[in-house]
Amino acid sequence: MTLEEAEKEALKCVHCGFCLETCPTYNVTRNELFSPRGRVLAFREGKSLEVFASCLFCRRCELACPSGVNYSKIYVEAIRRVRKLDVSGVVESPKLLSLTLGVLRRSRPYLPEPREPLAHKDEGAEVVIFPGCITSVLFGGLVEKAVKYFRSVGIKTEVVNGCCGLAHLHSGNEEGARKAVERLKERVKGRPIVGLSSNCVARLKEEGLEAYDFAEFVVKRGLPVKGRAELVTVHDSCHASHFGLGKYTREVLRMLGAKVVEMEEPNYECGAGGYSFILNDDVSEAVSEVKKNMVAKTGAEAVISTNPVCTLNFLRKGLRALHVLDLVEA
Ligand code: SF4
Ligand code: SF4
Repeated sequence: MTLEEAEKEALKCVHCGFCLETCPTYNVTRNELFSPRGRVLAFREGKSLEVFASCLFCRRCELACPSGVNYSKIYVEAIRRVRKLDVSGVVESPKLLSLTLGVLRRSRPYLPEPREPLAHKDEGAEVVIFPGCITSVLFGGLVEKAVKYFRSVGIKTEVVNGCCGLAHLHSGNEEGARKAVERLKERVKGRPIVGLSSNCVARLKEEGLEAYDFAEFVVKRGLPVKGRAELVTVHDSCHASHFGLGKYTREVLRMLGAKVVEMEEPNYECGAGGYSFILNDDVSEAVSEVKKNMVAKTGAEAVISTNPVCTLNFLRKGLRALHVLDLVEA
């Protein structure tokens, strides 16, 4: 991606405003500067680029845009110039990530205790389990369960820990994001990848890898599942929504006998995008509150979230958040 490409995308904007109501930051501020159109215009004019700092990089605006503006290209180019925080080095090292999250946990007690990523490899492993960087250190129990589940259905796996590069893109580090995918490709060696973090799966799909969300793999391979049936609602994480991954989550829930009560806008941003789960600024907090109310209105016992950063934000807001795999018996 180049500056030229980003500028080309920005020029496609015809100021129609169709994206405004879909944008969570515009939705809570009613301020044009916090809208996709306002941000695209700022980029075109080359000024006030700090308006990108409040963008949650949820990409809902792309889904609404009739002119096909690839907002992601503009965002990555703009945020590179304004983002002061770059966590690329941290997410690439599980040890550093664990240490950092351990420190953050002192002031954020909702964070699970970090642990060493699980190392696992079956002889002749045919499928790669890719937890994603955050899941590997904060939701290790989920990774163990995935290994156990696949063993129970006769599939040999290898757990490959690492980063998909999405965290790099949040700080405009495109080169770092590209290298993260290259490193992953070398370790995956052409095998199918089953991801436990939906937004990472979406990123890997966009990069042309054979990646499946856990529920997607179960459905497409016709694998059996049994487990707990609960009254739940489903949150569709933003990047994963571009690939319609939520339908597989719902299908697995149906197979489990769970009752799903849909919330008003399942793919409304959780409020944690773009590092906001660390920074907690006013705009992302207001978006988180909107989402929390949507979940609460359903009366569900839990919100199903298959992306770890969204899950953490739900936990922060005092909600019971589970991955669909949490309900599966292994
Ligand atoms: S990526 Fe999301 S928050 Fe950012 S401008 Fe688009 S809709 Fe708004
Ligand atoms: S919907 Fe697309 S073309 Fe219309 S204002 Fe938004 S970015 Fe521009």
